[in-house]
Amino acid sequence: MKPKVGFYWMGTCGGCEESVVDLAERILDVVAAVDIIFWPVAMDFKLEDVEAMADGSIAVAIINGSVKTSHDEYVAKMLRKKAGLVIAYGSCAHLGGIPGLANFHSIDAIFDRVYKEVPTVYNDKGIVPQLRTEIDGMILELPTINNTVQKLDDIVSVDYYIPGCAPNPDLLMAGIQAILSGNLPPVGSVLSPNRNMCDSCPKERKEEKIMVKEFKRYYEIIPDEDQCLLEQGLMCLGPVTRIGCGELCMKANMPCRGCYGPTDQIEDMGTKYASALATIWYETNEEDIDRIVRSIPNFASIAYMFSLPASIMKRKRIKSEVDFK
Ligand code: SF4
Ligand code: SF4
Ligand code: SF4
Repeated sequence: MKPKVGFYWMGTCGGCEESVVDLAERILDVVAAVDIIFWPVAMDFKLEDVEAMADGSIAVAIINGSVKTSHDEYVAKMLRKKAGLVIAYGSCAHLGGIPGLANFHSIDAIFDRVYKEVPTVYNDKGIVPQLRTEIDGMILELPTINNTVQKLDDIVSVDYYIPGCAPNPDLLMAGIQAILSGNLPPVGSVLSPNRNMCDSCPKERKEEKIMVKEFKRYYEIIPDEDQCLLEQGLMCLGPVTRIGCGELCMKANMPCRGCYGPTDQIEDMGTKYASALATIWYETNEEDIDRIVRSIPNFASIAYMFSLPASIMKRKRIKSEVDFK
């Protein structure tokens, strides 16, 4: 009997599913070694099929996406019961990911923006989706949407994490091989090397110590292709980000935005990055430092682009909210 493996997506863009497909012909090795019993994006197994399975009968559940709805929570908990191992796959499941930026707003503000205020939306009656709708005698029900985006391990225990937006398929392959061979690291490990991006970045630092006079948005300069981007005043999160992607962004002359998450030594990417930035001001008097700080473009959204739900604040405190889940 081959071990059973299930894939599931929660609040997701589909990119993590695409990265499984990016295994290309290696997916044939995976299919030869395991029995895929659930994969909503690619195969026609029903939720009821999995619900009917015995607890513990699935070897591994590989779950991507952030937790935002009651349905996400239900399926995550159900898969946790059925599976021996749960892997959080991709930034959204690992840290909350880009959907986690919703935690800078309340759910009401998001609904107003999406359904009423966006200039391309025509909704003169102000209709928003309802949890329960009756049409022609039939009842349609939607899951509830939580006010706060959560990562997978806020809902269920997670055995391993495969980071990235989306993960490098090599990491998935290595993870599957490690599971099949039983050669696994300690539970709770992130399955990508615990070193920071600057260690392996192909760009060079021209100065012994980085000294920034002004921060810039990417479109404001044409960066030198060989030089460290942070040295050139671009917000690169390399100093606080784990390796594993193959330094993809820097090879395209773009700054790292931190999708592989922090190394094990870092609790909170944003505060650690703020602390790193505070050591590289070129100026020393208060007025000029203030000018440099003001040149930082949208610090919170960049520093927490993938990790706000995993940060020490989890979400922006909004006075008017009652539900703080
Ligand atoms: S981690 Fe990235 S690729 Fe994967 S679901 Fe989230 S946004 Fe999409
Ligand atoms: S800060 Fe960015 S560009 Fe500079 S060395 Fe680190 S990863 Fe590379
Ligand atoms: S360089 Fe940074 S943002 Fe780009 S893929 Fe790698 S970890 Fe993600």
